[in-house]
Amino acid sequence: MSTAKRIANLPPYLFAEIDRKIAAKRAEGVDVISLGIGDPIEPTPPHIIDILIKEASNPENHRYPSYVGLPSFRQAISDWYKRRFNLSFDPETQILPLIGSKEGVAHISVAYVDPGDIVLVPDPGYPVYNSGTILAGGKSYFMPLLAENNFLPDLDAIPEDIARRAKLMWLNYPNNPTGAAAGPGFFEKVVSFAKKYEILVAHDFPYSEITYDGYEAPSFLSAPGAVDVGVEFHSLSKTYNMTGWRIGWVLGNAEAIEALGRVKSNIDSGIFNAIQKAGIVALEGPQSCVKEMRDIYDRRRNIVVSALEKMGLEVTPCTGTIFVWAKVPSGHTSASFAELVLEKAGVVISPGAAYGPSGEGYIRVTLAVRDDELKGALDRMASTI
Ligand SMILES: *Cc1c(COP(=O)(O)O)cnc(C)c1O
Repeated sequence: MSTAKRIANLPPYLFAEIDRKIAAKRAEGVDVISLGIGDPIEPTPPHIIDILIKEASNPENHRYPSYVGLPSFRQAISDWYKRRFNLSFDPETQILPLIGSKEGVAHISVAYVDPGDIVLVPDPGYPVYNSGTILAGGKSYFMPLLAENNFLPDLDAIPEDIARRAKLMWLNYPNNPTGAAAGPGFFEKVVSFAKKYEILVAHDFPYSEITYDGYEAPSFLSAPGAVDVGVEFHSLSKTYNMTGWRIGWVLGNAEAIEALGRVKSNIDSGIFNAIQKAGIVALEGPQSCVKEMRDIYDRRRNIVVSALEKMGLEVTPCTGTIFVWAKVPSGHTSASFAELVLEKAGVVISPGAAYGPSGEGYIRVTLAVRDDELKGALDRMASTI
């Protein structure tokens, strides 16, 4: 028996090698600290958990959920967008709950990408944009996110023939892994590019609430005409520390929502209703928990930035997300520096090249780690490298 070619075409799991080295270090008795993972460590706020506990015992919630999600959850999403961005979406046709946004990010390629089609993928970027493309038989065209362009793709640098063959463009601001923000005017440029070449824009927006220094992240769908060409993926994972719950949504262009819904109704059966009811409470309940998390990450961001700068690293300004992006010292590659830090300090950092070729020369440090561990890891780095 042989597996399908599309599986063979998937890139290797880039952290596999580092995982093997961590295991070897731990076997040697080294107390390895990981600054690699982007998964919040603080618990989900208790008022959200309480609803899950209550709703989990209600037999009405034990049957298949609806493919399109609970009307009350879709309404809560619509109301939240109205409050947060002053944007209105029809909960019937423009909002679709997802089993975590990753699920929808991967599946929208099934709806839009035919074999041989091009997908415009930010580089560095979240790996699922590329793997979703490959699984649909498409081909990624990497749009470099460079420091000199404030980590925004240069749309004018995309060759005409590529733009014509492109079906889908991925964007993600606040950006993982660079921490960059979409500057003024950028989304407007994207809308006119997408209209010219008839490309669906998919803006991945899980860090909308995790921003610093008073910066408020705009929705892509705020740009005039954006709803004609785009959708926005959103998630409760990072805002409310709910990565394990698997709940998110996509909203915007009704045709795209319908197309993704058609794919999903043939593959999955929706989100556990009790989790959707907890999702409503997350969006409608007290929001002080969001500010508390933002303050925690802000404190850690300052710890990381000042420690890395003291080590002589050039740190990219982090406007949002739970990551700090920094240049490796000269003479190093991402991988050689990550390896040195693991070898000498017993600390895991993510090599930037793991997020795409333009991530070469950078490392990513997570803020999703306890302060004492973070300080311990940075102290060890400072004294050994
Ligand atoms: C964390 C993350 C996601 C995944 O969110 P889920 O809703 O948990 O699937 C998507 N995109 C980016 C850029 C992320 O960092």
